[in-house]
Amino acid sequence: MAWNVVIAGGGFGGLKAARELERVMPKQAARLMLVNEQNYSTYSPFLPEAAAGTLEPRHVVTPLRDILKRTYLRLGEIVGHDPEAKTVELAAKGGDQETVPYDQLLLALGSVSRVLPVPGLTEHAMGFKSLADAIVLRNRVVENLELANATQEHQRREELLTFVFVGGGYAGLEALAELQDFAADAMDSYPRARLHGMRWILVEAAPRVLPEIDQDLADYALRELRGRGIDIKLETQLKEVTANSATLSTGEVVPSTTVVWTAGVAPAPILRQLNVPLDERGRVPVDAHLRVHGLDSVWAIGDCAAAPDPRGGTCPPTAQHAVRQGPVAARNIAAELGIGTPEPFTYRSEASFVNLGRYKAVGRIGDRKFRGFPAWFLARSYHMSQIPGYARKAHAVLDWTASMPFKRDIAELGSVTQPKRLG
Ligand SMILES: Cc1cc2nc3c(=O)[nH]c(=O)nc-3n(C[C@H](O)[C@H](O)[C@H](O)COP(=O)(O)OP(=O)(O)OC[C@H]3O[C@@H](n4cnc5c(N)ncnc54)[C@H](O)[C@@H]3O)c2cc1C
Repeated sequence: MAWNVVIAGGGFGGLKAARELERVMPKQAARLMLVNEQNYSTYSPFLPEAAAGTLEPRHVVTPLRDILKRTYLRLGEIVGHDPEAKTVELAAKGGDQETVPYDQLLLALGSVSRVLPVPGLTEHAMGFKSLADAIVLRNRVVENLELANATQEHQRREELLTFVFVGGGYAGLEALAELQDFAADAMDSYPRARLHGMRWILVEAAPRVLPEIDQDLADYALRELRGRGIDIKLETQLKEVTANSATLSTGEVVPSTTVVWTAGVAPAPILRQLNVPLDERGRVPVDAHLRVHGLDSVWAIGDCAAAPDPRGGTCPPTAQHAVRQGPVAARNIAAELGIGTPEPFTYRSEASFVNLGRYKAVGRIGDRKFRGFPAWFLARSYHMSQIPGYARKAHAVLDWTASMPFKRDIAELGSVTQPKRLG
């Protein structure tokens, strides 16, 4: 008899788990199924570069079918779960709904942007979490430069040329740094907008940015970004967003049509409908073997899980942790089915890097700290080793090489998904 193993989510953790299950489970022993919303996995550390145009957007995603050898890929969403019957509900792409039985279930559903009750936020601000977000943001920046170059109204030009990022974690900071760099180059093509100048603002509620790295490295990043003219407002909160303004806790009303919300992540909201235990932050609590508390056949990894961190507390929501948890969960699932022995998750993060654009970064490996170009080079080499698939590695190198001698591409492709009606 072959066991049914279902993996919900094909991002960093789910994909690694599927690959490991393919490796350790004999073909006849298990039917592997992976359910994902798209047929690709996104390499999110490269999203800022996709937004800035140094990487072609298609090259920051990897088609799952290129990587998976014998896992059955189903496109759609897991929308329900019955732990007693051991089934999940699959809303397949195309509209069909199906009940899928499992013997072992791995939840790797990731996270979404954490939204706070700020008036106007969901209506007027943008997130920065997916490839779609990166593409939309890039198009927005280019479109705003176009409009600012054409308008005669001072106030309108100011709204168009002011970009507000909220949240000083690594995702927000990297996106801001790359896009400001891109826009600064692109400005050469917009002489009237250039006369007015742009404003890039980072708003952070805490007294510091980059809680993920040491204070001195965060200070270096702050100095570097301030040196580029980025206005970093610490201990400040976003109070309200409208179509053309952002109101801050200092009382300042910033005229801006672009507010990017990068203030943290929350576990995938669908978890609330999956009949699994959740902690106070909405994550699925798991033990050191990544098994869900109280459910023998269900496992959880990555951003959607609250997994014990060997350093204390729970693991932070990073790809670094998700890609290491995936194979451990896979081997523990195999052990549960009689192949191999179970093992705890023992990975201790030794390195972290934050890209600051312009060939600069900050980071740490063990006790050694790096700043500037050496940090950027190390970070890029690390990411090159991690992006799945040889084709994607080659494309990334070619994109970076080709982007060096040429001007930035400022084609605004926002309308390509809305072709004109026939006739
Ligand atoms: C801009 C940015 C930069 C980042 N940079 C770094 C970095 O440099 N280093 C680092 O370590 N981390 C980084 N991260 C964090 C990293 O992306 C996450 O920690 C990582 O993606 C978590 O992996 P995961 O497998 O848990 O979830 P994900 O990789 O998000 O995968 C979850 C998958 O589940 C799918 N899914 C969701 N709901 C359903 C459903 N109901 N049914 C089926 N499928 C579903 C999603 O489509 C997705 O494919 C960055 C994040 C962002 C946004």
